[in-house]
Amino acid sequence: MSRPAPTSDDASAPFFEGAARGKLMLQRCRTCSATFLPVQEVCTECLEADMEWVESSGEGTLHTFGVMHYLYHPGFAQELPYNVAVVELAEGPRMNARIDADNDSLEVGMALKVAFEEAGDVHVPVFQPA
Ligand SMILES: [Zn+2]
Repeated sequence: MSRPAPTSDDASAPFFEGAARGKLMLQRCRTCSATFLPVQEVCTECLEADMEWVESSGEGTLHTFGVMHYLYHPGFAQELPYNVAVVELAEGPRMNARIDADNDSLEVGMALKVAFEEAGDVHVPVFQPA
C-alpha cells in the first residue's frame, strides 16, 4: 500500500502547480501583505479577500518535530521510524512537512531548505538541512 497523498483542487491548484515546478507557493494578502499557508479565502489579519500567490524563498527553520515509531497507516511501513515536522518559513507561515534527514540529526531551530518529492499525482514539499 502506498502512502496517503494530497489531491489538488481549485483553491490549492496554484500551490501544487508550483510544487511540480520546484517552487513553494504561498498566498499573500494584497492589502496587508500577510502570507498564508494553507489557502484562505479571507485574510485573517485584515479581513480583506484580495489574495495573490507568491513564491516563497523556500527557506525556514525547524519549529518542532516528532518521530513516529508506531505504524498508523500501512503506507508508512517501509519508513518507520519517520519524522513529522512543523517548519517555520522565512516569510512567517508554519507548515507541516517531512524532513529529509536522519531523525537523530534533527534539532529545533536548524536551518532548512525546501525540496519536493512525488506523492501520488502531485509533488509535496519536504525539507532538507540548509
Ligand atoms: Zn490582509
